[in-house]
Amino acid sequence: NTGRVLSIQSHTVQGYVGNKSAVFPLQLLGYDVDPINSVQFSNHTGYPTFKGQVLNGRQLLDLIEGLEENNLLYYTHLLTGYIGSVSFLNSVLEVVDKLRSINPNLTYVCDPVMGDEGKLYVPEDLALVYREKVVPVASMLTPNQFEAELLTKLRIASETDGREACNILHAAGPSKVVITSINIEGSLLLIGSHQKHKEQAPEQFKIVIPRIPAYFTGTGDLMTALLLGWSNKYPDSLDKAAELAVSSLQALLQRTVNDYTSAGFDSESSSLEIRLIQSQDDIREPKLTFK
Ligand code: ADP
Ligand code: MG
Ligand code: MG
Repeated sequence: NTGRVLSIQSHTVQGYVGNKSAVFPLQLLGYDVDPINSVQFSNHTGYPTFKGQVLNGRQLLDLIEGLEENNLLYYTHLLTGYIGSVSFLNSVLEVVDKLRSINPNLTYVCDPVMGDEGKLYVPEDLALVYREKVVPVASMLTPNQFEAELLTKLRIASETDGREACNILHAAGPSKVVITSINIEGSLLLIGSHQKHKEQAPEQFKIVIPRIPAYFTGTGDLMTALLLGWSNKYPDSLDKAAELAVSSLQALLQRTVNDYTSAGFDSESSSLEIRLIQSQDDIREPKLTFK
């Protein structure tokens, strides 16, 4: 079970975030992936400096027009991650409409990237647009704890809160919701929720992930790509898809920490670049270690 994915995300020349983090794993899982780079930066913005260009909404729609003119706009999936402005997000909404007019069954996987650990890294008015316009058209949503809070206006401090947040998000639109991590006492709690029939209670599950004492970049982008890839192969068991995604990701993170440590770096002192290419076997064939 595969597909053709349009992935609108950032691109970094060096390092793995956005499309650099999502395209390769999806290809490994057998998908055709067409990346549109919403920005092209030298490196991710966690470094002291960065240089590069930002695509605007008009330029995005230009590329879409080009595809359409040649009848190349048939996609099974749309994937979006970090979006830095309201105007670009509004153009993405036009893209969703356009793709759905060509394939009414389009799956839109939206990672509503807005911030982490209580800190916003997009303009404040983006949250409103996500809440009112994007969530309603998304098929699957993959917020972290902070983003789920922004979208639901619910404070999430427990598993019960996480489940409730998923219910609120289902009511607004998406049938699949994965809160990728809730920080609880040194562990990360993933909550997944699949509402198979409208008006019915969703099937929910959790995965407890031991927190590795390090900071990584690009993990959320990779996680959403893996969730897209696996949930399309197991359309009726989001729990299985999430277990596979988490197993791959944890093997990769462990490898990343081990590599830094054996090279003599203090892996707790700065943000680590993930060992994506080196972990390709763990992506293609995850050993199911997380349930
Ligand atoms: P985001 O990057 O969007 O904030 P998360 O923080 O939820 O998303 O990270 C996505 C996934 O990456 C989590 O579900 C978890 O599996 C993994 N992850 C990220 N950081 C760590 C960590 N320090 N230890 C273990 N797993 C992590
Ligand atoms: Mg996080
Ligand atoms: Mg994220």
